[in-house]
Amino acid sequence: MRRGVKMLKGRQDMFYNFEVKTNRQTELIDITRQVQAVIDKAGTKEGVCYVFVPHTTAAITINENADPSVSRDILTTLNQVIPFQGPYQHMEGNSPAHIKASLLGCSLTVLIDAGKLVLGTWQGIFLCEFDGPRDREVYVKVLKC
Ligand code: ZN
Repeated sequence: MRRGVKMLKGRQDMFYNFEVKTNRQTELIDITRQVQAVIDKAGTKEGVCYVFVPHTTAAITINENADPSVSRDILTTLNQVIPFQGPYQHMEGNSPAHIKASLLGCSLTVLIDAGKLVLGTWQGIFLCEFDGPRDREVYVKVLKC
């Protein structure tokens, strides 16, 4: 899944990306470790990190990563509320994925303290795949402040 953290070519500031290979049509993948790896690589002790997914049929969210049934329930409910079959007009046939991606959003802001992501005990950062399987990309900008 993880293909490594690297600095984008030609960038001298702390702008990183990593790839996530998804395995299913809809899936939540915990990417907390990969985002923390970016913070570790940047060496930032205090600051903010912006996490951005440059896709229209994938999203990013923070939710519980202790019990995997939470992710399954989120997906099940989203798939019930936004069914795969519907009176959609988009010719590509993946409107449900676009709608789910818009509902959850494409970016997050997470604080950094003592070199670690500031997350609640049960929180994790998830890439949300809604039109997989695909290779997805995650951008991370780390700001010291
Ligand atoms: Zn489409």
